[in-house]
Amino acid sequence: MTELFNIAVIGAGVVGCAIARELSRYNLKTVVLEKGSDVCSGASKANSGVVHAGFNNAVGSLKAKFCVQGNEIFEHLCSELGVPYKRTGKLVIAQSEGDVKELENLFEAGLKNGVKGLSIVDRKTVKMMEPGVEGVAALYSPNSAITSPYLLTIAYAENAAMNGVKFKFNSEVTGIERKKSYFKIYHDGDYTQAELVVNAAGCYADKIASMIGYTEYKIYPCRGEYVLVDKRWSHLITRMIYHVPPKDKSVLGVHITPTVEGPILLGPTADFIEDRDDTSTTMPGINQIIEEARKILPSLPSHDSITAFSGIRAKNKSKEEGGLGDYIIENRRDSYFINLIGIESPGLTASTPLAKHVVEMISELIKLNLKEDFNPIRPAPIRLAELSHEQRAELIKKEPLYGEIVCRCEHVSKKEVLDAYNNILGVKTLSGLKYRARVMMGRCQGGFCTAKIISILQNDLKTPYNGILLKNPGSYLFTGKVREEDEKDVK
Ligand SMILES: Cc1cc2nc3c(=O)[nH]c(=O)nc-3n(C[C@H](O)[C@H](O)[C@H](O)COP(=O)(O)OP(=O)(O)OC[C@H]3O[C@@H](n4cnc5c(N)ncnc54)[C@H](O)[C@@H]3O)c2cc1C
Repeated sequence: MTELFNIAVIGAGVVGCAIARELSRYNLKTVVLEKGSDVCSGASKANSGVVHAGFNNAVGSLKAKFCVQGNEIFEHLCSELGVPYKRTGKLVIAQSEGDVKELENLFEAGLKNGVKGLSIVDRKTVKMMEPGVEGVAALYSPNSAITSPYLLTIAYAENAAMNGVKFKFNSEVTGIERKKSYFKIYHDGDYTQAELVVNAAGCYADKIASMIGYTEYKIYPCRGEYVLVDKRWSHLITRMIYHVPPKDKSVLGVHITPTVEGPILLGPTADFIEDRDDTSTTMPGINQIIEEARKILPSLPSHDSITAFSGIRAKNKSKEEGGLGDYIIENRRDSYFINLIGIESPGLTASTPLAKHVVEMISELIKLNLKEDFNPIRPAPIRLAELSHEQRAELIKKEPLYGEIVCRCEHVSKKEVLDAYNNILGVKTLSGLKYRARVMMGRCQGGFCTAKIISILQNDLKTPYNGILLKNPGSYLFTGKVREEDEKDVK
C-alpha cells in the first residue's frame, strides 16, 4: 500500500523548508515535494540575503508582523542551524532635502511596526559611518543584518531531514485529487498521499491552488537582476546602503549590500514579466544597477563584477494595481489545504514566523504531539577559509584531505567537497556542491576548480563521466568521449 503522509509541503524554498523544520518538532509523517533537483530552486537562492528590520512594510500587515518577529529571532536561528549571520546595520540614504520627508515616513512606520533602534542621522554622521557614501541624511537601522539565503534554506531542510522529514526532489506536482480523507498528489508519473497539503510553491503557488479549484489567486512575476562585485572592493562599505524606496513602494530599489562571503551585491531591478522562469540578466538591467549604485557610492568600480543573476518575486498584485500586496495564508474552502500566496520580500526574514503561523493553523486540524528527541541543532560545516593558519595546520594534521585545495578563489578543500557530497538530502549534482561548499563561487566562477571537482566525482566517488549532472535531470555535463573511436583502436 502507498504510504500516507500526514502532511505534504509543496515547494522546497526557504518557506517550505522552514515549515518542514517546524513540523519536524512533532510526531508527524511529513514529506516535501520539490520540482527542482535540490532545495532552493526558486526565489530563495537569488535575493539580497537581507534580514530586514520591518520599517518598509505597511503598518499592520502580515509582512510587517512576521518580519519584525523574524528579525528578532534570526541570530539565534542562525546559531542553531550553523548559518552565517552578520548584523551590519543599514543606512537608507536621502540624496536631496525632498527625500528627507520619506525617511521620516519610514521612521514612523518602523516605530508603529515595533522596530527597535531606528534613528535619523545627518550628513556628517553618514560620512563618519560610511566615508564613501554621498547623502544629505539617512535612516539608520542598527538591527538590519545579512545572511546567506541558500545556506539557510539548505540548513532548514537538513535539520528537518535529521528530524525525520522526507524530501522528494525532481517531483513536479502536476495534479491534485481530493479524496475523502486525504489528497492524492501527482508528480512525474508517480503520486504521494497526504492528509493535509501546504502549498509553498512560490511563483507557482497560484497554479498549485488551481489544481483543487482555487482559481481566484494570481501570481505576477517580477524579476530582480543583480550584479556581484569582487570581494577586493568589500572595504568600500561596512553597512547596507539603500536609496529611499521608489514612489510606488512595491520594491525597495537598487541597493548596495555587503554579503557574508565578502563580495558586494548590487541590485535588484524590478521588471514585471510574463514568463515566471525567465531568470535572464540583461545589459540594460546591469547598466541601471551600476548607474544607480554609483549615485550613492561614486567610488564603486563599474567594471569589476564577477557575475550577474536574477530572482523572481512572487507578487500577488499586478503592476497596474501598484504591485504591493500582503501575504495571503489561508485555507478558506478546504481547511486541509493551506495556500501561501505572494510570499515575496521579506519572506526570507519572515520564514520562521511564517512557518510557526502555518503550524498553528495545522494544530487546529490535526492533534500535534511534540517529539521528545527533536534536535534543533544542525552543526555548521567546517570552512577552511574561515580558520586561522594555526587552526588549519591542526586540522590538516588530523585529516590530510583538508590540505588538498580544490577551489583557489574561495580556499575550499577536497574534504569539504566530499562532505558536501555526503549531504543528508542526497543531492549529488555539481550545483549542489557549489551551494554547499562554495566551490565555483569565487572570482573565476569555476574556471579552475570545475575540472578538479569532476576528477573527484569520477575517481574518488566513482561517478561515471556520463552520470555527472550540473543540476536537473538530463543536465549531463558529458554525453560522450571526443576520441572514443581512437580509444577503441588502441585497445
Ligand atoms: C529579487 C529578490 C530580492 C529579495 N530580497 C529579500 C531580502 O533581502 N530579504 C528577505 O527577507 N526576502 C527577500 N526576498 C524574498 C524572498 O526571497 C522570498 O520571499 C522567499 O525566497 C520565498 O520563498 P518561497 O519558499 O516561498 O519561494 P521559492 O524559493 O520560490 O520556493 C518555491 C519552490 O517551489 C517549487 N515549485 C514550484 N512549482 C512546483 C511544483 N509544481 N511542484 C513542486 N515544486 C514546485 C520551486 O521549484 C521552488 O523551489 C527577495 C526576493 C527576490 C525575488
